[in-house]
Order: sequence, then structure tokens, then C-alpha cells
Amino acid sequence: MENKKELRNWLDAFNLDHPLVIAGPCSAETEEQVLKIAHQLKDSDATVFRAGIWKPRTRPGNFEGVGALGLKWLQKAKEETGMMTTTEVANANHVELALKHDVDILWIGARTTVSPFIVQDIADALKGTDKTVLIKNPVNPDLSLWLGAVERFYTNDINNLGVIHRGFSTYEKTRYRNNPEWQIAIDLQNRFPDLPLILDPSHIAGRRDIIFDLSQTALDLNYDGLMIETHHDPDNAWSDAAQQITPKTLIKYTEDLRIRKEIGEATEFKNKINTLRTQIDVIDHQLIDMIGKRMNVADDIGTLKKDHNVAVLQSKRWNEILGKMILQGEEKNLSEEFILRVFKAIHQESINHQEKIINH
Ligand code: PEP
Ligand code: MN
Repeated sequence: MENKKELRNWLDAFNLDHPLVIAGPCSAETEEQVLKIAHQLKDSDATVFRAGIWKPRTRPGNFEGVGALGLKWLQKAKEETGMMTTTEVANANHVELALKHDVDILWIGARTTVSPFIVQDIADALKGTDKTVLIKNPVNPDLSLWLGAVERFYTNDINNLGVIHRGFSTYEKTRYRNNPEWQIAIDLQNRFPDLPLILDPSHIAGRRDIIFDLSQTALDLNYDGLMIETHHDPDNAWSDAAQQITPKTLIKYTEDLRIRKEIGEATEFKNKINTLRTQIDVIDHQLIDMIGKRMNVADDIGTLKKDHNVAVLQSKRWNEILGKMILQGEEKNLSEEFILRVFKAIHQESINHQEKIINH
């Protein structure tokens, strides 16, 4: 991955004065639906029209895509609107069909990125072409699997690459369908600053109401683009209905999103500081989340203590915790005094919680 400059050219060649926008339905459903949405997006900021033709579904029995038939609809959408097109490919046969039907950009789905064998097959099928390939993060929060997929394409001389951040599965229920884990994408961006990074807020959110905020965070983190699921009648979409927005909403969002352009030294400073500040915001958010989780466990302990008539304060245990945290803090260059202050505050809050439970 030495020659990073080469990686970026495909997006520079678009000559956009705003981040790349990829929009279109989760799935191509009918020819009429594809063309309708494409036409509604024609005058938006979206340069690329997306539609899934082959849909990998976690559970069988859901709509699995219209198959090769839909490729003709994508071709027609391109002819009629001038938009570029993109679809997901998940095996060598998909690649062959997509190439035959002139799909401009191919994306690798999250359930494919987890499998080095399949990624290699797709990379082999694309060898010798100059296709642009966007690689979604794997479903599990693993940066090396994501990078490994990028490397498999790159090693096969497929140089027009980009990555799509679509969030990660968690067993635990969170407010997201797929947890963003921003830090993984930020780490990837730091390692390969010239690899275009695109956010897919739709699959992170799983619902409409937080797509705008997720998109704004991405732009503040200097992402290069957005992929947003867009449908003329979201509620009646055949897949991912809860997360799709109308083309009209998309147009409104792209008007309202703050986009920072990199021009001039002062602006560059501002951009950099904004990016770093957004990273801090993301981490602070995670801190509160973690402390909240810790309190929930403390509450459970409180209930247990109440049931067994045990005192709230257990000094021995508390001193053990402190000792361990001071040592761990040292490794991160955090002073003993700081660790003491933070953990005393957290501990006090836990005690307050538990006392409330016990006196209830
Ligand atoms: C999609 O983009 O519709 C899709 C199936 O995405 P993912 O691979 O991120 O789940
Ligand atoms: Mn989808």
C-alpha cells in the first residue's frame, strides 16, 4: 500500500465541490421503482445511484433481491439520468454479470468482507479491470479484516479503491442497528489517509431519525462521502424500510449539512482542529456510555446486596480496584492523583446508586 496517491485518483477525477453522495434504494424492486427513484435523485447532490440486486440476508425467508434482471434497470437508470451506478457483488458470477452490464462501481458487503476466501475470489475475478471497488467494513469490529480485504484488491492491481463504514454488529442492543465504533474508521483513515472513506449512516442507524446527525459527524471527521439509502416510498420498501429516506429528504439533508472545504492555511488549521474535536466528542460520548454501563452493573450489585443483607461499602474490594487502576493508569501516562480523583467520583456515584436501591 505504498503508493497511496494512486488510490485516490478516481474520486479526484469526479471533480466534486462537495463530498461524494451515493443514494438509491436498499434493493432494486421493480423497473418502475428503480427509474422513479433515479429520476427523483437526478437533480440532487448524488453522483452515484445505488441499488442492491443480490441481497445477502442474515435470516432466510426475506427478500433476497431480484437478481440479474435488475442490472438492466440500473443500465436504464444510468442512460436516463446520467448518474453512475453501483451494486453489491458477493461472488465471481455477480462480478461477471455486473461488468457485462456496465455497473460503474462495485461494493463488497459487510458479510462478504469477513470471508478472505470470497474476497480473494472477487478480487481475482476483477483482475485486469479498472473497476472502482468500495469495501464495506466487516460485520465484526476488526480493523485487520477490513484492511486485509483492501490489500487483496490492491495486490491484484485494482487501484481504484475506497472503503465504506457501515457499523458493526453487537450482541447487546444499542441505539444503533450497527454500532459505529468510530475509532476503527478513524484508525483506518490515519493509516491510509488517501483511501476514500465513505459513511453509510443508513445501516449504522437502522432508523431514519439519526441519519442526518451521523452524516454530520462523518463530515466533521473529514470523510470523503456518504452512501444513503433512499426510496420514493420508504415505509413500503421491500427491505430495510425503517432506515430509508425519500429523495426529497436527502436533498434537504445535503443542503443542511455543513461541509468543510480544505482551502488556505487558516481553513486547514480549522479543519484539523475540528476533526480532532469531533474525535474527542466521539470518545466523550463513549466515556459516558461506559460509565452508564458501569452504574447499571453497580445497580445489579446493589439489588443483590439488598437481597442478602450485605453492607454497601466493601473497603477491601474498593482498595483492590484502586490499586489495579493506578497501575493501568501509569501505563497510559495518567497520574495517580488523577486516577484517584476519577475513581473516587465514580465510586461515590455507585454508592449513591446502591444506597438508593437499598433504602427503597
Ligand atoms: C446494503 O448496502 O444494502 C447492505 C446489504 O449493506 P451491508 O453489507 O452493509 O449490510
Ligand atoms: Mn440495506
